[in-house]
Amino acid sequence: MTAIIDLSLVIPLYNEEDNISPLYDELSVALNELSLDYEVIVIDDGSDDASLERLRAIHDRDARWQIISFRRNFGQTAGISAGFELARGKVVMTIDADLQNDPRDIRKVLDKMAEGYDIVSGWRTDRKEPFFSRRLPSMTANRLISRITGVSLHDYGCTLKAYDRAVAKNVKLYGELHRFIPALASEMGVRVAEIPVNDRPRRHGSSKYGISRTFKVFLDLIAVSFFLSYFNRPLYVFGGFGMVIGTIGTALLLYLTFVKLVLLQNIGNRPLLMLGVLLVVLGVQIVTTGLVADMVMRTYHESQGKPIYHIREQLITGDTKKSPESIG
Ligand code: UDP
Ligand code: MG
Repeated sequence: MTAIIDLSLVIPLYNEEDNISPLYDELSVALNELSLDYEVIVIDDGSDDASLERLRAIHDRDARWQIISFRRNFGQTAGISAGFELARGKVVMTIDADLQNDPRDIRKVLDKMAEGYDIVSGWRTDRKEPFFSRRLPSMTANRLISRITGVSLHDYGCTLKAYDRAVAKNVKLYGELHRFIPALASEMGVRVAEIPVNDRPRRHGSSKYGISRTFKVFLDLIAVSFFLSYFNRPLYVFGGFGMVIGTIGTALLLYLTFVKLVLLQNIGNRPLLMLGVLLVVLGVQIVTTGLVADMVMRTYHESQGKPIYHIREQLITGDTKKSPESIG
């Protein structure tokens, strides 16, 4: 196993040729002031400008800068995920390559982490982006995500965030889910804090996202909330719902049986009969779906050896270390 260092900075980067040199300078100043053992992992997400050449040059002169270069553009989430995989830091921090995050905030975030949090999220209290296309959708999204996932943050979209190693190593990312890491990680049981950070306008290059991101974020939110609430035991949800429907249907049919057998009335022309039959069939279907989903989950957990728990710390004679990532 590789030696663990103090800090890994993970930077997803796509076509940011003019930002690389100022990024290196600003980060180096901020990081060297901290006098800790750090590495910077830049993931070049299939850039087709001069980004990779410039990163190569930096790697040659500063061995702390690790570069991963994707074969094509896989997206920011994939970049972050690759960085997490490689990271050797006790704390893993993500930051944008375009210098919209302020490297001087790194110290604040680290100090907060040292108070014992698993995740510290930056919160851009004074955002420099346009209101209608950026801040308004983002505000709405933050409210919704906070409400639905139960992890209340003002700024899910801020890339400047720090994660405890165990969180970074265990969170499974795909699609565009990097914005949801604090919510996804809540499944593991995490202490989350947020602190105000500086937001700066982009100086070089252009944003890689348009308004279409808003829709993706909302769709992701539906997926994440489903994942969070129903993931482990889908049967509890489907089963409960199916049983309620099935019970109502059964009650209706029992009532109709009573009408037919005791009151001796004809029930063939009653809409209630249709409804009763429909509800019973639906109820059975939904419970069965729950069972199938449960089986899928079981396969998932067992085939991946995915633990159903996450340990924060162990106080065991001969091993009092903080949980290594192999434990989860
Ligand atoms: N990025 C990336 N892959 C992509 C899109 C963006 O690695 O497909 C990087 C980009 O270089 C930047 C960060 O992700 O470092 C945030 O992107 P951007 O600044 O365009 O987003 P915005 O700040 O406009 O929300
Ligand atoms: Mg940006």
